[in-house]
Amino acid sequence: MAEVLIIGAGPVGLFMAALLLQEGVDVQILEQRSAPEPHSRAIGIHPPALAALAGTGVSEALVAEGVPIRRGVALAGGKCLAQMSFAGVSDRFPFVLSLPQGRTEALLERRVNELNDGALHRGVRLIRLSDDGARVTVEAVSGRGTLSYAAPLVIAADGVRSTVRALQGVALRAKEYPDSYLMGDFADNTGFGPDAALFLAGAGIVESFPLPGHLRRWVVRLGAGDPPAAGGATAGGQCGDSQGGDALWLMRCVRERTGLDIDAGTNSMLSSFGVRTRLARRMVTGRVVTIGDAAHEVSPIGGQGMNLGWLDAAALVPIATAAMRRQQVDGALKNFERTRLRAAARAARQAEINMALGRPLTDGLLGLRNRAIGGVAAVPAVNALIARRFTMQ
Ligand SMILES: Cc1cc2nc3c(=O)[nH]c(=O)nc-3n(C[C@H](O)[C@H](O)[C@H](O)COP(=O)(O)OP(=O)(O)OC[C@H]3O[C@@H](n4cnc5c(N)ncnc54)[C@H](O)[C@@H]3O)c2cc1C
Repeated sequence: MAEVLIIGAGPVGLFMAALLLQEGVDVQILEQRSAPEPHSRAIGIHPPALAALAGTGVSEALVAEGVPIRRGVALAGGKCLAQMSFAGVSDRFPFVLSLPQGRTEALLERRVNELNDGALHRGVRLIRLSDDGARVTVEAVSGRGTLSYAAPLVIAADGVRSTVRALQGVALRAKEYPDSYLMGDFADNTGFGPDAALFLAGAGIVESFPLPGHLRRWVVRLGAGDPPAAGGATAGGQCGDSQGGDALWLMRCVRERTGLDIDAGTNSMLSSFGVRTRLARRMVTGRVVTIGDAAHEVSPIGGQGMNLGWLDAAALVPIATAAMRRQQVDGALKNFERTRLRAAARAARQAEINMALGRPLTDGLLGLRNRAIGGVAAVPAVNALIARRFTMQ
């Protein structure tokens, strides 16, 4: 019997495992996928998360592979409206690190294997669990049939469709948004270097972030009539005829809204997504603690979801290790739940602001909004405050 069972080897479950293994806790991780997920979702790693990751020795490897974004610029009509430097947000990590989620997970998994190469069980899917007050028993299926595991503590990091959360009947506060986006990675021919760029266009925002390997991610806010978020085919969007969310369509859209040409032939990833917030009413149920997306799904706009989950894990480690030493942790768990749900609600609000600022506007309102953004960003104290908020401080 392990001391802690972790369900899910996404970025949050892997980080949780590395932290506990370092503390000498006997951990087993169950992951339904037989191989790592290659899809690049999260790219932004914020300073507080980098500081937490440093505790496992992973941040050096991440920084060695990623692109440190030290500055963001906001542009409209070819002119720079505002600039934001991240120089003052952290002494140790004065930047937002850009690295595709697949690489981040690979580096975390490597660390877990260094600490215990038998801890991660792939191809094992939890289907049931029961908590008798002294320990939790988990039933799982794998290619070898049904398996049974038990531990005094289960940590569920099993993502937005969390089976554990559903089995425990945890209620969610859910909110749907009208926003949807198309994103793609292309060769970087912009000259922005390591800067992030936001283009405040009337048809909807275009965001652009550097990636390792001289690539750039482009994220376009879709408007009415644009290809649907699911990538299905509709014609005649605001960026001309579309075959439905393809690289050529994205290229044309970027040109219309920013005046910049990207090379559709260099496209290496294309994905569309809609947005919703789902916050669990509780994270702790008996001997089961839910963390990461399983507890809180926030909009990718603002790039905080994975970071939030890592900060859950960092906050939970001292409590879990104290529990293993048979110390009383009820009060600490209550405080953990309260502060982490509050942090998730704050991130959801921040993402709502980011999304609102990127929505399509008519010319008159667009000019007003863009002048307001330029004016606010020109006040150094306000600019520094926004930089801190944006980087989760
Ligand atoms: C387009 C997009 C862009 C994003 N950009 C950013 C960004 O820049 N910065 C940021 O911080 N966040 C970003 N996010 C959010 C980020 O991707 C998630 O917050 C992050 O993946 C959550 O990690 P997790 O480990 O909690 O869950 P997941 O990554 O979903 O991992 C859960 C794991 O649990 C496994 N699992 C599920 N059920 C079971 C079961 N029953 N048994 C065993 N295993 C199971 C799954 O296979 C999976 O491997 C973005 C998201 C999207 C969609």
